Amino acid sequence: MNVFTNAASADPWAEPYKIKMVELLKKTTLEERRHAIRQAGYNTFLLRSDDVYIDLLTDSGVGAMSDRQWAGLMRGDEAYAGSANFYHLSETVTEYYSYTYTVPTHQGRGAENILSQILIKPGDHVPGNMYFTTTRLHQELAGGTFVDVIIDEAHDPASLHPFKGSVDIAKLDALVERVGAARIPYVCIATCVNMAGGQPISLDNLRQVRLWCDRHGILIIHDMTRVAENAYFIQQREQGYADKSVREIVHEICRLTDGATMSSKKDAMVNIGGFLALNDEALYEKACNLVVVYEGLHTYGGMAGRDMEALAIGITESVDDEHIRARVGQVEYLGRNLESLGVPIVLPIGGHAVFIDARATLPHIPQSQFPAQALAAALYVDAGVRVMERGVVSAGRDKQTGENIMPRLELVRLTLPRRVYTQAHMDVVVASVARVMRQADQIKGLRFTHEPEYLRFFRGRFTEIDAG
Ligand SMILES: *Cc1c(COP(=O)(O)O)cnc(C)c1O
Repeated sequence: MNVFTNAASADPWAEPYKIKMVELLKKTTLEERRHAIRQAGYNTFLLRSDDVYIDLLTDSGVGAMSDRQWAGLMRGDEAYAGSANFYHLSETVTEYYSYTYTVPTHQGRGAENILSQILIKPGDHVPGNMYFTTTRLHQELAGGTFVDVIIDEAHDPASLHPFKGSVDIAKLDALVERVGAARIPYVCIATCVNMAGGQPISLDNLRQVRLWCDRHGILIIHDMTRVAENAYFIQQREQGYADKSVREIVHEICRLTDGATMSSKKDAMVNIGGFLALNDEALYEKACNLVVVYEGLHTYGGMAGRDMEALAIGITESVDDEHIRARVGQVEYLGRNLESLGVPIVLPIGGHAVFIDARATLPHIPQSQFPAQALAAALYVDAGVRVMERGVVSAGRDKQTGENIMPRLELVRLTLPRRVYTQAHMDVVVASVARVMRQADQIKGLRFTHEPEYLRFFRGRFTEIDAG
C-alpha cells in the first residue's frame, strides 16, 4: 500500500545545503566496544561519545546549525533584561506558530514543568496521544494522572494507518464519563508522536479534538517538538493539503491549539533551548511568575541571548519544504533499506527515526529481560552505532502498583540528527543491523543492577543474564 498519496515522489530529494565544515569521526575496535558497553552497564546513554562512531541515540540538540544560525550567535544581546533576541524569538513564534506569548525555558522539560504546575491540580487527569517520558513525569509530579487516548493502531507496529498519532475521540468521551470535565485541565496533543514511532496526527482529527474540547471547556496544549515533520506528512498524505506549504500547515496546526511546549533541540535545530507558548494573558502571567523561580527572567528563561537568536533563525529554516523533504527522506531511506532486508520495523516509517521491533527480533528474550535494551547494546558492540531503547525500560513503573509497565511497543530507535549524516553513513548502519540480525539468537537478556527512581532509562545499569 502506498500511503504517500500526495507525494511528488518521482523526483529524488537531495540535501538543500552544502557542507562548509566537518567534524572527524573516530572508529574503535570490537574489543574496545565490548569493554565500553560493559563499563556503561549495557546502557547506551552511559557510553562516552568518543567511543561512538555513528550516533543515532537521539535527534535532540544534535542537529547541525546553518551558517545563518552561527552568524546569529554573534548577534547575541546578552542583556539581563529585555534582550533584543527575546523579542526576535517571540515575534518569530507568533509569525510561524501563531502563539501570542513566549516564555523561553532551558529546554522542553522546563516548559513542561511550568505548564504542569500552572494547569494541573492534584487528582486531575491529563489525556494525551501517547505518553512522553518527561511530559508524563511532570504531569505526575504536579499530582495528575496521564491517560492514553491515542488510537489503538498506534500500539500496533504493523498497522499501516497513515495517521497513527491521531486521538480516539471515544476514549476522550469515556474519560469525561469517568472523571468529569472539571478534572481534565487540558488535552495534551503531540505532533509526530515520538513514542509511537514518529507518527503524525491528521488535521482532520485535530479539528475533531478542538470541537470536543470546546464542547467540554477544556484546553489543548500542543507538544510541538516535531510539528514541522507532522506538517510534512499532512502535506504528503491528507486530502486537500498537497498544495499547501509546510509553513502554512504548521501555522494551521498551531492555531487549533491554546498553547504549546517546545523542545527546540529537535525541529528547530539548536543545541539547547525551548519555550512555553500561550495565548491566554492570565496563564502567561502565571507562567511568568514561575519562570523566574525555575529558569530565569521571563525575557530569557533558561537561554542565552545568542541561543534565542539561533532558535529564531532555526524556526524559519525548519518549516522550509525542501529541508523537511530531505530530512524525512533520509529517515525513509534508512527505513526502506532495513525493511528490504526483512528487519521488522514500525510502519509507516516515522519522521525522525526508524524503530526496530525488538520483540519480533529477539523472540527468545521475554519482555521482563528488556529485549530492546539488549538489542541496543548489541548494535553498539557490532560497529559503534549508538541507538536508544524505547520499550519497557523507558516506560518505567506504574505509579500505583510499582510494577513494570509492559508496553506493547518494545522498540529500538535509530534516530537521525538533522543535517548531520550522509546517505553513506546510512548504508553503514544498514550493514551493521543486518549483521546483528544474523546473530540475534546469541543476544542475552538483561537485568537491572542499578535502577534510578525517575526516568530510569537515562542512568539505569544492567548486566547480562546467563541463560545457563
Ligand atoms: C524531547 C522531547 C520533550 C522534552 O524536551 P527536552 O528538550 O528534552 O527537555 C518533550 N516532548 C517530546 C515529544 C520530546 O521529543
